[in-house]
Amino acid sequence: MQTISEIKSLRSQIKAWRQQGLSIAFVPTMGNLHAGHFSLVEKAKTLADKVVVSIFVNPMQFGKNEDLDKYPRTLSDDQRGLAELNTDMVFTPSVEVIYPHGLETQAYVDVPSVSQGFCGASRPGHFVGVATIVTKLFNLVQPDFACFGEKDFQQLAVIRTMVKDLSMPIEIIGVPTKRESNGLAMSSRNGYLTIEEKSTAAILYKTLSDTAMAISTGDRRFDTLIEQAKQAIEAKGLKIDYFGIAERDSLQPAQPTDHHFVILVAAFLGSVRLIDNIQVNI
Ligand code: AMP
Repeated sequence: MQTISEIKSLRSQIKAWRQQGLSIAFVPTMGNLHAGHFSLVEKAKTLADKVVVSIFVNPMQFGKNEDLDKYPRTLSDDQRGLAELNTDMVFTPSVEVIYPHGLETQAYVDVPSVSQGFCGASRPGHFVGVATIVTKLFNLVQPDFACFGEKDFQQLAVIRTMVKDLSMPIEIIGVPTKRESNGLAMSSRNGYLTIEEKSTAAILYKTLSDTAMAISTGDRRFDTLIEQAKQAIEAKGLKIDYFGIAERDSLQPAQPTDHHFVILVAAFLGSVRLIDNIQVNI
């Protein structure tokens, strides 16, 4: 497995693969890799000849009071895990390589509508940061396929919309969320939690599952379901950021006549912000 940090070497390897007629699948990450990330790499391997994983903690997608500085960075463990999966290349650029003139005057990509609400409302500028870095990485890696986790459901919707609206020649693949045995969605931020907190945090998936069950058995009292869910989560001591039921593709508030729903939650356990979601298809 090659580790590359400079744009010039990345471009020359991509060009060489292209000249050999090889296809490329790409998995962008912020590192601190866990089984969820590795499932994206496994999926990528089934899609293309070569798999590129990027590890870049993107300052542009963090708000001023968020955890950019303390975000876990575990490069050698990540490299070991990726090498075990026979990843072809890991791209680990520095902030200076990606944003050589800083963020203030950096060009950006904004994907309106689907970026609004949910995480977009609680984290202003977050999806501009995500869309911009993903565009930049797509232009560097030029993949045929790119894999993203359904764990970050709104992010996946933003990327799908961006690729469609801007005619990017890349197939976006959504990969189901990997969970701990108690249902907690795997996340780099789970590392901030104690064992006890991880067990408390399982309420998120339990509540999503209960709400999904209610919808799949015909309950369309969305406001009531949301209220009940919020109460169940807050009863465990978490603080709700949002709990919503939306149409799966538009992320607009669910209507009783919709067929594809997504239930999305974000909540704080202490200072740790956790997100999760579940889909219901009728
Ligand atoms: P991150 O490093 O958190 O930016 O995540 C990189 C990619 O891994 C994103 O596409 C995430 O949606 C995906 N991902 C993170 N956690 C999980 C999980 N538990 N299951 C599946 N994919 C995940």
